[in-house]
Amino acid sequence: MLDHPRFELIRHDVVEPYHAEVDEIYNLACPASPPHYQYNPIKTMKTSVYGAMNMLGLAKRTRAKILQASTSEVYGDPLVHPQVESYWGNVNPIGIRSCYDEGKRAAETLFLDYHRQNGVRIKIVRIFNTYGPRMNPEDGRVVSNFIVQALRGEDITIYGDGAQTRSFQYVDDLVEAMVRMMATDDNFTGPVNTGNPNEFTMLELAQAVLKLTGSRSKLVYRPLPSDDPKQRQPDIGLAREKLNGWMPKIQLEEGLKRTIEYFDTLLAGRSSK
Ligand code: UDP
Repeated sequence: MLDHPRFELIRHDVVEPYHAEVDEIYNLACPASPPHYQYNPIKTMKTSVYGAMNMLGLAKRTRAKILQASTSEVYGDPLVHPQVESYWGNVNPIGIRSCYDEGKRAAETLFLDYHRQNGVRIKIVRIFNTYGPRMNPEDGRVVSNFIVQALRGEDITIYGDGAQTRSFQYVDDLVEAMVRMMATDDNFTGPVNTGNPNEFTMLELAQAVLKLTGSRSKLVYRPLPSDDPKQRQPDIGLAREKLNGWMPKIQLEEGLKRTIEYFDTLLAGRSSK
């Protein structure tokens, strides 16, 4: 894309205001991996809150449509299962995950207030755990951790007893959902869940990665980080209805195969240097 004459890449921190002439804004700014967003929690909150205000201001001035990458973390450790958009969530406001969870919740508030107060055309997607090729091997989230550990023959780190669940969405399905969301009628703001409802325990995920990589890595157990949600599964009824019949197409085994292939090539390239 860098060689394309009509493509421009600008490095900018959304915490600072930004001016450009635009028609559509996808606001994905913010680290999403727990070790990364907890590394500098104050900056994480600033990124979500000041970032949302700056991008909403830009959308207001340019009359652009703006899409917010929100998160299943707005549901916290959910007491309603699967999670529907109408559920208000169970979030700890003072824990180690709060900088991310509350930052993203405040951003949703700002989006709806700019919409109600200034008529800004907004779109909110609540993204459930997403993975795929081109993740950073040091990302720290579970899918890339397990794959990298399996490929290197290192121990697979299970946090807690591994009975907690997540529902994993392949990146291409998310991109498709976001593009379709941007194209919906102006009167549909969301929030809308995007994710794959197939739910797995972390032990099941580890077994799947071991099987697909043929690795002989051992499972080791590490303490469960505080406020780690016990279960998570999106209800995608609203997405199916509003996003033109959108459905996740890539199931876990296929998505893991593609991601393993990516990391296999990446790690082989590194070790031969
Ligand atoms: N997890 C794990 N081992 C790891 C990384 C994560 O068992 O090496 C667990 C983590 O405790 C959580 C789940 O996997 O229960 C998903 O964690 P991740 O950081 O990918 O995302 P989260 O959904 O918690 O934001």
